This record gives sequence, C-alpha cells and structure tokens, in this order.
Amino acid sequence: MWRAGMSEEIGRALVCVREKVQNAAAKRAQGLPAVQPRLVAVSKTKPADVVIEAYKHGQRYFGENYVQELLEKATNANILSSCPDIKWHFIGHLQKHHINKLVALPNLYILETVDSVKLADKVNASWQKKGSTEKLKVMVQVNTSSEESKHGLSPSGTVDLVKHIKEKCPGLEFVGLMTIGSFGYDLGQGPNPDFQLLLRQREEVCEKLGLPVEAVELSMGMSSDFEHAIEVGSTNVRIGSTIFGERVYAKSAKGEANVTNTEEKLGSLSVQEQ
Ligand SMILES: *Cc1c(COP(=O)(O)O)cnc(C)c1O
Repeated sequence: MWRAGMSEEIGRALVCVREKVQNAAAKRAQGLPAVQPRLVAVSKTKPADVVIEAYKHGQRYFGENYVQELLEKATNANILSSCPDIKWHFIGHLQKHHINKLVALPNLYILETVDSVKLADKVNASWQKKGSTEKLKVMVQVNTSSEESKHGLSPSGTVDLVKHIKEKCPGLEFVGLMTIGSFGYDLGQGPNPDFQLLLRQREEVCEKLGLPVEAVELSMGMSSDFEHAIEVGSTNVRIGSTIFGERVYAKSAKGEANVTNTEEKLGSLSVQEQ
C-alpha cells in the first residue's frame, strides 16, 4: 500500500486543498460568520502511515467513520508518538455498543454524529463515567436529503435534540450541525438544497435557543463539493479521497464491490458490522 513518493503526493494534495479552502472562504457571502474553515482529513481505509505523513505536512484534524478503525489508529504506537497533537473526529454512525470504546480513545476531539436523544444520553453517561474534566464536543447529524440509506435525525427534531444536549447532558458540549447530503448534486441547478437546509436549521436552532450563529458550526462538504459548501457557510469540511487518493473496498465473490449504498460506501460497512 505504501509507495515511495507518497509523502510528497500527500503534501502536494494538502497544499492544493488548503488553497482551495482559503479561496472558497474568501468568496463567502456577507453575513456568514467569518470563521476559518477547519479541514478534517478523512483517513478511513488508509493505513496509519498516511496519517503520520499528513501530520508531518501540518495536518492536525483527522476523521474516521468506523469505530474499530479509529480505535486501531488512535491507539497505534507510531501515531501516538509521532502525532502528539492529533485531533480525531468521529464521522460515522455510532452504535450504542461502541460508545464506551469510542469515548475511551486518546485524542478524540469531536463526535460529529449524534442523531438521537438516546444516543446523546448514552454518550453523556459514558463520558461522565470516564471522569474527564473537559466536556466532549459533539455535533448533531441531520439527514438533510431524507434518504433512508443515510443516518442522521430528521430536520424536524433538530431543535429538540440540541436543547436536550444543552440542558440534560452536562458532559457534552454542543458545537454544531453536521450533514452529508445527497451525492452527485449538480451545482448548475443552483446552491445545494441540502446545505441550504442545514443553514436554515442553524437559524432555527439559534433563534429558538438564543444562541449566536458563531457558536454553531456547520460540518458539510466532502471532496466533491467542499468549495461550494464553504462558500455557502461550512466551517468544517471532511475531505478524504482528494487528499489520500481513491479508496479501495473489498470485493465480494462475484467481483462486485461489497458496498452498495452510499452510506456503507462511506466506509461504515454497517451491514457487516451488525
Ligand atoms: C468518507 C467520508 C467523507 C470523505 O469523503 P471523500 O469524498 O473521500 O472526501 C466525508 N464525510 C463522511 C461522513 C465520510 O464518511
């Protein structure tokens, strides 16, 4: 998997992505919070070595969407010694029986995918049991494209879940809203409606709960659409293949890719996992 020249490739890709992030941020519409977007490098399916290379090139935020894989990387001895300041984002569907494993991980920075009151309560309890002096940062994942294959809460429940986290989960710090959105949206049709929906959700949350917009991040945008996402207000983009190259998934006996629907293709392999 590892080849000579890969370090330079990752370095070049990061320089290029960072520049695009800056340019997109400069094009943001007036009235949007002028926060520097955070670049989360999504390293799923890629070996620990590429994480270390990207870290050497200045990358600090990394995302994984499969608990087992994050566990392997976050506790990898080389990553622990070479990347003391690494910050992990969990961006996949979190199953209840994995919560304790996840919250125990070193350098867990944000859990981006809280999508129910039950999950929030369980994560809160687990985090409090750990006895950390800091709160765990969480985002609420909204299913903006209403596709059944995608996780996330239906938009009508967002305000209540955020309120619940803020009022009933003292171990958690609500930091923003996250969405994936439908794939392959044609920007020729105008702004991506899924991102617009997340923006409206933020307005609603801020208005109903009396929060300043600056206090609610928006995690949206991946390799194919991060520039647009930033232009319309994303503060956190999750970029995998543009930095690390295409992902290779296991093939089934028939030679077809094992993963069919988009959510699984994102790497959570949720069917096999259950
Ligand atoms: C895999 C993944 C990404 C990154 O996808 P790319 O298209 O490779 O940039 C972003 N967000 C989530 C939730 C993912 O699972």
